[in-house]
Amino acid sequence: MAQSLDLIREEALKKISDCKNTDEINEVRNTYLSKKSELMSLMSTLGSLTPDERKEFGMKLNQTKSQISEALNAKQEELATVELNKKLASEEIDISLPGRNFSRGGKNPFYIIEDEITDIFLGMGFSVASGPEIETDLFNFELLNIPKDHPARDMQDTFYINDNTLLRTHTSPVQAHTMQESKGEPIRIICPGKTYRRDDDDATHSHQFAQIEGLVIDKGINIGHLKATLELFAKKMFGEKREIRLRSSYFPFTEPSVEVDITCANCGGKGCSMCKGTGYIEILGGGMVHPNVLKMNGYDPEVYSGFAFGIGIERVAILRYGIDDIRKFYQNDVRFIEQFKKA
Ligand SMILES: [Zn+2]
Repeated sequence: MAQSLDLIREEALKKISDCKNTDEINEVRNTYLSKKSELMSLMSTLGSLTPDERKEFGMKLNQTKSQISEALNAKQEELATVELNKKLASEEIDISLPGRNFSRGGKNPFYIIEDEITDIFLGMGFSVASGPEIETDLFNFELLNIPKDHPARDMQDTFYINDNTLLRTHTSPVQAHTMQESKGEPIRIICPGKTYRRDDDDATHSHQFAQIEGLVIDKGINIGHLKATLELFAKKMFGEKREIRLRSSYFPFTEPSVEVDITCANCGGKGCSMCKGTGYIEILGGGMVHPNVLKMNGYDPEVYSGFAFGIGIERVAILRYGIDDIRKFYQNDVRFIEQFKKA
């Protein structure tokens, strides 16, 4: 009987070493260690043995059982490790693969132009001022010589927060703010910023647009300074060959007031469809600061004089790039913006 135990053990150990996966392990375990197995049936023969034989055979039986059991456990562990390694290998991340390319965005042409205009004026010794987009009636209108009943208000209808508070219709309130803060000192500032008007949006109108305000105040400032400043700006912005002309105009906060035109780039001044046959294209408005505005904001018009101008940022960008619709600046269409990406 002891021999048959040896046979059983050898057979079992061989089968265990041939196991290729956990299922086969379980099968072998079932064959050799379950209640119906050969080993267990040998248990029932113990009763027919003498006490000494029983003791010896019992010991040997238990030994065989635990040898088979240990071999099964060891093999199971070994197979588990192999299976885990196989799984890990199949899930390995290949870090040598190149990453996904992110395309770098372009700058909205609006900001390209805003930066360029700002740079040109910084080069002329201007500094950059800023003011609130939500304004009081006082700063947006009154202090700029536009009293309550002034017809100019009709052209600058805007979004009111209440009777006295509104979204600014131009960057000109920054003139009043700067004058009041400067307390009689000379001023040379520009102010780029958003402005708002109640408008039906179309290709040439937007309820939101932007201006760059300019203001120079000092003793002895005359319209020649205004012309020279804007001429330099026009040449830097649109090219050395461009000429400007001043046309008489009207703004409540300047006197005299002018519209500034540049020679048409398309026809060089001969006249074409782009300039409607005039040879010139309007780019901005300006003038000498109205004595009332100087006075209301703390400057003596007998001593000080100054000039102011307002440049439409979108207008300049439209002329520079030949953009056909002002709304494109605000639609965040990547296809539009990407055209201005620098290589
Ligand atoms: Zn033209």
